[in-house]
Amino acid sequence: MGTENKDTPARSAGGEEKKSLNFIESIIEEDLKNNKNNSVVCTRFPPEPNGYLHIGHAKSICLNFGLAQKYNGKTNLRFDDTNPEKEEVEYVESIKEDVNWLGFNWEGEARFTSDYFDQLYEWALKLINTGFAYVDDQASEEISKQKGTPTQAGTESPYRNRSVEENLDLFTRMKNGEFKNGERILRAKIDMGSPNMHMRDPIIYRILHKEHHRSGNKWCIYPMYDFAHGQSDYIESITHSVCTLEFEVHRPLYDWLLNHLYTEGTIRPRQIEFARLNLSYTIMSKRKLLELVQKNLVSGWDDPRMPTISGLRRRGFTPASIRKFADTIGVAKRDNVIDVALLEHSLRDDLNKIAPRVMAVLNPLKIVITNYPEDKEEWLKIENNPEDESMGTREMPFSREIFIEQDDFMEDAPKKFFRLAPDKEVRLKAAYIIKCEEVIKDDKGNITELRCTYDPDSKSGSGSEASKRKVKGTLHWVSVKHAINAEVRLYDRLFNDEDPAGHKEKDFKEFINSDSLKVLNGCKLEPGLKDAKPESKYQFQRLGYFCVDRGDSKPGNLVFNRTVPLRDSWSKLNK
Ligand code: ATP
Ligand code: MG
Repeated sequence: MGTENKDTPARSAGGEEKKSLNFIESIIEEDLKNNKNNSVVCTRFPPEPNGYLHIGHAKSICLNFGLAQKYNGKTNLRFDDTNPEKEEVEYVESIKEDVNWLGFNWEGEARFTSDYFDQLYEWALKLINTGFAYVDDQASEEISKQKGTPTQAGTESPYRNRSVEENLDLFTRMKNGEFKNGERILRAKIDMGSPNMHMRDPIIYRILHKEHHRSGNKWCIYPMYDFAHGQSDYIESITHSVCTLEFEVHRPLYDWLLNHLYTEGTIRPRQIEFARLNLSYTIMSKRKLLELVQKNLVSGWDDPRMPTISGLRRRGFTPASIRKFADTIGVAKRDNVIDVALLEHSLRDDLNKIAPRVMAVLNPLKIVITNYPEDKEEWLKIENNPEDESMGTREMPFSREIFIEQDDFMEDAPKKFFRLAPDKEVRLKAAYIIKCEEVIKDDKGNITELRCTYDPDSKSGSGSEASKRKVKGTLHWVSVKHAINAEVRLYDRLFNDEDPAGHKEKDFKEFINSDSLKVLNGCKLEPGLKDAKPESKYQFQRLGYFCVDRGDSKPGNLVFNRTVPLRDSWSKLNK
């Protein structure tokens, strides 16, 4: 893990952990000290609505909203919708839902770059009028050829020195739809010799005859990202425009445009870059995630194996665990890869505190307790969370026939097998000690049932000598006649390679983990789970954390997802 420039926690005198400022907080505190921008802090989260948000976006959301919260500021949600070719209303709605679910509220209504098209157009005219923008008639291939290389200056366009009048006329005609896509473009007139390629007369407006999901057919010219982004920050009085590192080289252009459009006395945004989140075993490109969805390699954007926020939510992640994770990894200035185990650790940590313990048997094996009366049933008291007494207790029915997990029994058990075996004893959690007396098999030799006896004096918590008797294993179980049925989906990591997108010769899809989903039908749960609501989370004792699927679970037809196993099995297996 690259943590070299991550914040290091310092210990205060009281001993509790006190984090030192990260580099963005230091910049903000310096600005506040100097009373820059009247000491207000306004950040924004600016997604492009061309896909669902993923865990990388969650990092950016927690950072932007977190900074505003810390400094009494505000955060805008702004849809960067300048590309009508790829954007959809479905994505806008999902993004709003995801930001809210993470626990954040943006300032006022959600904003859209498309709402600023008029102002952006005016500013383009201003650049033309002041001689800092021109219309180029060349095709884009020609323009890229003239760009030069990082070490070699570019070539000036033959249209670079057009008169202001001619530029105004052509730009107006571009806007009026007189030209086809690609026939003309508007460029900022900066410096074809600049060592920064982004300053070599970048394109700021292009023609695109395409209906926009908000502005309809009003426009057939659309601003480029670099032109729209900084100016939208400026329109919204954003003070600190936090973005990922790849935009560092765009910063001179961001500042150049503001220099030419800025009015004294107004809030002037400042761009600050941080390292994007990369996670091991995870794909984080929206294009690749879309491919998984379109090729039906997953069930949708919210497939519980997807690193999307909606996928993590459906898998059973809590907003608190994601916020904690974002906080733990801190803000870095250099690219690094975070171990996905850290995200899972943060999740287990949260679920351990909040998830009630319940009993569920995924692969049932029936036991008949021959010396337990046929019509008897007992309701046994059991704690809901040993980590938190305030979560109380519940009662669970016990009867003559119970289910245990198939792999908690072995006929020819090795010495170290501390579960059930012929003539061996185990404790049934919160109940009695049982002993296996007989193994029943079908014609093919498959074990179909066990016959056991129980020790009536061994009831847990009864205080008797037998209740204190130590046996090696404790098993979870459910009563056959009380059990309810459920489907359980065992999810695992979607990719079995640490860096699925990092192979030159191989496509990332070749690393899809074929065992990433196993569906179990006929699982048996304790009866109290009958009314479990979608998204409620539990620890199935000895098995892991599970949640009720928010897509497919229905009363009477329960579907549970495995969120995470109790322990990280990957680091052992794969290292
Ligand atoms: P992708 O590369 O997945 O397509 P993007 O950067 O194009 O993502 P946007 O919708 O433009 O997606 O991103 C919105 C905001 O989220 C931007 O400010 C961007 O910098 C930030 N962001 C995107 N990916 C990450 C990441 N992996 N880590 C941190 N921030 C991210
Ligand atoms: Mg982007």
